[in-house]
Amino acid sequence: MRIKLKSNCYSNYSGDYAEKLKSIDGEWVEIDTTSLFVEQLNTKPIPGVTNVGLRIYQSDVTDVEGDERIGRSKCDYCGVSVDTGKPCCGCNNGINYMKEFFPGTTRQAKTVQEEMDSIFGDAFQGA
Ligand SMILES: [Zn+2]
Repeated sequence: MRIKLKSNCYSNYSGDYAEKLKSIDGEWVEIDTTSLFVEQLNTKPIPGVTNVGLRIYQSDVTDVEGDERIGRSKCDYCGVSVDTGKPCCGCNNGINYMKEFFPGTTRQAKTVQEEMDSIFGDAFQGA
């Protein structure tokens, strides 16, 4: 999953955070999908910018590629995400605390090509 940042969105912030955003202004960045949120996303580490990832607000995003949140729900109790309609696999609360990221969305089946790209994509970065 990756996102494209809005151009000049750093101008809404100040200090260190603004400087970091400026250095990736308008660029595509990879998202850490281990913990997903509706209103914000955490990037993977970006060499030269952040070793731990950067919090990006959804309002500063223009495009999302391979959005892992579509058709999925997150457990408010333990934070695990699963396909909408399925019980939580992280706690024993079943569907009691499941909340859809984007209600009514359905995840499209990935094509074989997309699967291959997601598996091998990282290997070709920077080539
Ligand atoms: Zn849970």
